Amino acid sequence: MIHVIGLGPGASDLLAPRAASALEAATDLVGYGPYLERVPPRTGQTRHASDNRAELARARHALALAQEERRVAVVSGGDAGVFGMASALFEAIDHGPPEWRALEVEVVPGISALLAAAARVGAPLGHDFCVLSLSDNLKSWETIAARLTAAATAGFAIALYNPLSRARPWQLGAAFDVLRVHLPGATRVVFATAVSRPDERVTVTTLAAADPALADMRTLVLVGTQATRTIERAGAVPWIYAPRGESA
Ligand code: SAH
Repeated sequence: MIHVIGLGPGASDLLAPRAASALEAATDLVGYGPYLERVPPRTGQTRHASDNRAELARARHALALAQEERRVAVVSGGDAGVFGMASALFEAIDHGPPEWRALEVEVVPGISALLAAAARVGAPLGHDFCVLSLSDNLKSWETIAARLTAAATAGFAIALYNPLSRARPWQLGAAFDVLRVHLPGATRVVFATAVSRPDERVTVTTLAAADPALADMRTLVLVGTQATRTIERAGAVPWIYAPRGESA
């Protein structure tokens, strides 16, 4: 049996109860090291931590363990189906030995970073929106730029995962440059870093002023639309929301 679990954005009370039960019942935990560190240790449970990029190998390892009658929990941050381990697991099954199709697999949904970040500033994703990862490890920059253009010109609010890392220092700045061609400089941009964790940091700015240096690999970037509204508040981060109609 394999549970594929989304751990939520960080705070332990944003972990779904079903995910908590599956973690409790697992004999083996498989995942990227920093995610495994978020799970409280339990005696008798074996942890298999791996490197960030080794997703397919990690998925195959989890499947091999499940074949040995272990109860395996594969963990991702946020939701496991959003740029997480669920895809890698099904890809491994799709290309793996036929016996893997007989295993019991349950994907337990989690609170994805975009939901936690949006909730933190109000309701910026209350209407049509679009989600992109800026990581170009698995797709070309041309594809990313074309999708950004399509999303901006179609009037979607945009959530950007994986905005930047040491290996990918320029992509976020280049993404803002693409968006500036199609959207007014006053368009709202939110940098939401480490949401729900002790070092959480949230900045609301505009597309014209958006500085990629505000982001790191724990940041979710939200870009509004021309309809996005801001409610200023003295001494606090403003509330941002998507009105319910285009002309609100
Ligand atoms: N499966 C995860 C996403 C994994 S990709 C999910 O559903 O949230 C990793 C990216 O998620 C990071 O680069 C960042 O953009 C975002 N992220 C994850 N946790 C976050 C948090 N607590 N606050 C802000 N962004 C977060």
